[in-house]
Amino acid sequence: MSANLKDTIVALATAPGVGAIAVVRISGDQALTIAAQLFRSIKGKDLRKQASHTILLGHIIEDEQVIDEVLLSLFKGPHSYTGENVVEISCHGSSYIQQRILSLAVKHGCRMAEPGEFTLRAFLNGKLDLSQAEAVADLIASDSAAAHQLAMNQMRGGFSSEIAKLREELLNFASLIELELDFAEEDVAFADRKAFEALVQRILFVLKRLIDSFAVGNVLKTGVPVAIIGEPNVGKSTLLNALLNEERALVSDIAGTTRDTVEDEISIGGIRFRFIDTAGIRVTTDVVEQMGIQKTFEKAGAAKVVLYLLSLEETANLAAVFTEIAQQKNRFPDKFVVVVLNKIDRLSEHFLAAFRDRFTTTFEGVSGLQFVGISARERSGVEALKTLLQSQVALGAIRSDETVVSNVRHFDALQQALDAMLRVDSGIKSNISSDLLAIDIKDALYYFGLITGQVTNDELLGNIFANFCIGK
Ligand code: GDP
Repeated sequence: MSANLKDTIVALATAPGVGAIAVVRISGDQALTIAAQLFRSIKGKDLRKQASHTILLGHIIEDEQVIDEVLLSLFKGPHSYTGENVVEISCHGSSYIQQRILSLAVKHGCRMAEPGEFTLRAFLNGKLDLSQAEAVADLIASDSAAAHQLAMNQMRGGFSSEIAKLREELLNFASLIELELDFAEEDVAFADRKAFEALVQRILFVLKRLIDSFAVGNVLKTGVPVAIIGEPNVGKSTLLNALLNEERALVSDIAGTTRDTVEDEISIGGIRFRFIDTAGIRVTTDVVEQMGIQKTFEKAGAAKVVLYLLSLEETANLAAVFTEIAQQKNRFPDKFVVVVLNKIDRLSEHFLAAFRDRFTTTFEGVSGLQFVGISARERSGVEALKTLLQSQVALGAIRSDETVVSNVRHFDALQQALDAMLRVDSGIKSNISSDLLAIDIKDALYYFGLITGQVTNDELLGNIFANFCIGK
């Protein structure tokens, strides 16, 4: 972050391009003074004399020429998003008008804002902690109900307030231990060891829970990867199209939405599922084809869910089919495998019921293996399959108040903090000296602080805020 934070900055807060309205945002000491030079209130009011949180109707004027009729919202620091004086100009959304207002603001003394600079200032002025600031970026990027919910939780404080509290307690102990070191010759103990041990256990517990939650959080944020595997012609493309088409039909109802870039994603119950492109799998002795199959398995390895598609004739050798199913499950022991029997439109009720029974008895007690019969072509059973997919994602975790970590940076810091706390824990147990203990405690404090932003450095801030869009 090389930019001068004392500058008054300006940026377009709305998406670039034409819209009904656009918002130009100015923040900094000089926001009101600069705005007063380019804005003339209809009622002749001096905006510098207005109370915070007022809205004025007026014109943007350059060299006595009216550029647009606008609404100007006024927020006086510290009662604004950035904590500084902020002016937001809602103008008509032509690109030309936007550009004129921006350049006018620059002419009168603003600097164009860097990406994320408004939020950076909000952070530096104590309006948000670092993880809340990051949640702002997540919120803007969220494109599914689950991702939105996660970002919202985190923005409201999420787990960072919990971390900040534990850090505070740990800091207290750290200073008591430091005190002991100062009085080392006199052999006094200021820190209550029992209470300290209890705190360490509490912190370990919280850290482990948060670290575990990342598995869910990350998947909810980035989508659940799903692989569809099965021999050629079992109907993999037909199923994928059935799933995707329905989604596209839904999406294209909303005017102006294009989803060209996410061809292979669907949203079920607010959770995104990403389909991994996998080639067909067939039992073969052909070496070249086997290599292809190997690749498919590797790709499927990245999935959380494997849909193993089958299509059968009623005359099929079921013993062989069930052996093959068991083998597939063995191949993906940690994944949720759904055996999808396709083309049931060609099968009798009787056969299907018998197959289902046999499946239930054969795989009783095997976890992470389910069965569903569908006809991809006639779209029957597809809903049941979707319900099954949805039930597999631990949605409960974010529906309740349980906090979920979805940010890789937080995950890394939490793991480092856990390592340090485990060292503290074993240090206590083996009765190591206080000065050694203090080193590990400091490490842990450092990593806790990285999450909330109590410990920062320019590089860290630069990395985080450079990923924001300009104007946020
Ligand atoms: P893939 O090679 O696994 O991707 O299989 P495709 O999706 O290309 O399907 C192979 C053939 O099976 C096509 O002719 C499909 O129309 C047909 N098919 C797919 N699903 C069904 C189904 O549910 N019922 C029937 N009867 N045919 C299907």
